Amino acid sequence: MTEAPHIQSIVIAGGGTAGWMAAAALRQGLPSSISITLVESEAIGIVGVGEATIPQIRLFNAVVGLDEDAFIRATQATFKLGIEFSGWSGPGSRYLHAFGPLGRPLGMTGFHQYWLAARAGGEAGSLWDYSLTAQAAARGRFARTFPAPPGPGLPAGLAHAFHFDAALFAAHLRAVCELRGVVRQEGVIRAVRQDAASGAITALTLEGGRDIVGDFFIDCTGFRSLLLGGALGAAFEDWSHWLPCDRALAVPSGSERPLKPYTMAMAHDAGWQWRIPLQHRTGNGLVYASAFLDDDTAAQRLLANLPGPALADPRPLRFTTGRRREAWRANCVALGLAAGFMEPLESTSIHLIQSGVQRLIDLFPAPGATGHAERAAYNRLTEREYVRIRDFLILHYWANARHGEAFWDARRVLDPPGTLAEKIALFEEGGRVLREEEELFTEPGWVQVFVGQGIEPARASTLAHIITPQQRAGYLADLARITARAVEALPAHEAFIARHCAAPAV
Ligand SMILES: Cc1cc2nc3c(=O)[nH]c(=O)nc-3n(C[C@H](O)[C@H](O)[C@H](O)COP(=O)(O)OP(=O)(O)OC[C@H]3O[C@@H](n4cnc5c(N)ncnc54)[C@H](O)[C@@H]3O)c2cc1C
Repeated sequence: MTEAPHIQSIVIAGGGTAGWMAAAALRQGLPSSISITLVESEAIGIVGVGEATIPQIRLFNAVVGLDEDAFIRATQATFKLGIEFSGWSGPGSRYLHAFGPLGRPLGMTGFHQYWLAARAGGEAGSLWDYSLTAQAAARGRFARTFPAPPGPGLPAGLAHAFHFDAALFAAHLRAVCELRGVVRQEGVIRAVRQDAASGAITALTLEGGRDIVGDFFIDCTGFRSLLLGGALGAAFEDWSHWLPCDRALAVPSGSERPLKPYTMAMAHDAGWQWRIPLQHRTGNGLVYASAFLDDDTAAQRLLANLPGPALADPRPLRFTTGRRREAWRANCVALGLAAGFMEPLESTSIHLIQSGVQRLIDLFPAPGATGHAERAAYNRLTEREYVRIRDFLILHYWANARHGEAFWDARRVLDPPGTLAEKIALFEEGGRVLREEEELFTEPGWVQVFVGQGIEPARASTLAHIITPQQRAGYLADLARITARAVEALPAHEAFIARHCAAPAV
C-alpha cells in the first residue's frame, strides 16, 4: 500500500473526544493550507464516559489555546490531584497515586530510596507524608500555586489534571475548531471507499450517497473502528488474558459535596468502581469481568454504592482490552477507542489520544515523502506506549491482596508480561524503578503503586546510606513538617473553584 504523496486534505471520521481533540491539535500543528473536515453522526452519539485525566492534558489545552478557567467552567470540571485506590490490598486498604514528585531530591538516588532506608530503621512516616499533592488531596485542598514557596527544591504549585464532562469537552473543542476553520459534516458513514490498486482510503460515503473525499483519514469512530479495523482490516491484539474486565456500567449521580480533588477507584469482588466528582454531578461506573459477575448483580452493586441518587439508568458498555497492531495503516491513523482500549484505572485513554495526535503531527509526511518511515516509526512508538501503560495497569491486579475471591486469586497467579516482570524484580530486589525512554508513568507513580499494593523491596540502594541514619531521620521529619505547613495554607478545593472557575448551575 502507498500513500498519497502530498496531503492537502484530512478527513476525521467521528466527533467524540478523540475526533475533536484530533481536529483541534491538527489545526494548530499543521499548515493552514491543509483542510480539515470532521464527519460525525448525532444519531450514533459518543461514548461519553471519559471524564478523568492526567496532568499532560494541561499541555494539550495550552497547545490548542484553551484558557484553563474558561475550559473548567464550560465542562463542569474539577481539579484532580491523583487517584485513591481502596480495597486493592484487601478490605480497608487505601493508598493514593498522587501526581507530582515525592519528597525533594537529595544526593544521587531517588527520594524513595532514603525513605526505604529510613523506614527499615523505623525512622520514617508514610510515603505520602512527603507528597504535597497527596497531602492536599487527603485534606481536600487545592490551589495552582502555594501562597508562599514551600521551600528549596520543592514545587511552587500542585501537579494537577481535571475531571470533566466528556460531552461538554467535545462540544467545547468543537466550538473552538469551527472558529478556526474545521468543517463539520453531519451524517452516518455507510461505506469507506478505497483505491483498488493501493488500498488507500479515498472517500467516506454518507447515508444519502454524498462522498467526503480526502488525502489522509483519521479514524475516531470509537469501538467500531470503521476505517482502520473495518475497511483496512488492521488486526486487533487481545490483552484480555491479563486484563479480563470486559464490561462497564456507567451512571451519573447527584453531586457529592465537598468536591474531592481526586478520582476514586474502589476494588470489588470482580473488578472495581470509579467515582469522579464534577461540579454538576458525580460520574460513577463499575468495571467488571463478565466471567465472574453477571450484569444484573453488577447493576445492583453499582446502584447500592452511589454517593447520591442515580440521575439515570446505568448504561452498559462492552469492550475487549487490547490494541490495533498497526495504528497507522495506508493513509489512515486511528485515535481513541478506534485504536485500542485499556480500562480507565489510571485515566490513560484521553492521554493516548493526545500523545497519538502529537506523534502524528511530529511524523506527518512532508510533501513528496512516501510516508513509509514515518508510519513505521509511528506504529513502533505507539506500541511501546500502549505496552508500558498496559504493564502499569496489570501491576494493580497482579499485586492485589484480596485473598479468597476467585477473580483476584486468578490475577495473582498469572505470569505478568516479561516487561513488567523485570520491573517488579528490580523493585523487589533494591527498590529500583526501571523507566525507559519516554515512558508515561514517572518514578514516583510507580513507587506509589508498588508500595501501595504492598510490594516490599528487600533493601534500599547503598546510595541512601551515604548519609547517617540521624541525618536521614532529620531530613524526613523536616520534609513532613514543611509539606504539612504548605498544604495547611491552601484553600479548600471547592472554595478555589467557587472563586476562580465555578460553572453555571445546571
Ligand atoms: C467505561 C469507560 C470509562 C472510561 N473512562 C475514562 C477516563 O476516566 N479517562 C480517560 O482518559 N478515558 C476514559 N475512557 C476512554 C474514553 O471514553 C475515550 O478514550 C474517549 O471518550 C474517546 O472516545 P472516542 O472519541 O474514541 O469514541 P466515541 O466517543 O465513541 O466517538 C465516536 C464517534 O464516531 C462517530 N461515529 C461512529 N460510527 C459512525 C458512523 N458510521 N458514521 C458517522 N459517525 C460515526 C460517533 O458519532 C462519535 O462521534 C473510558 C472508556 C470507557 C469505555
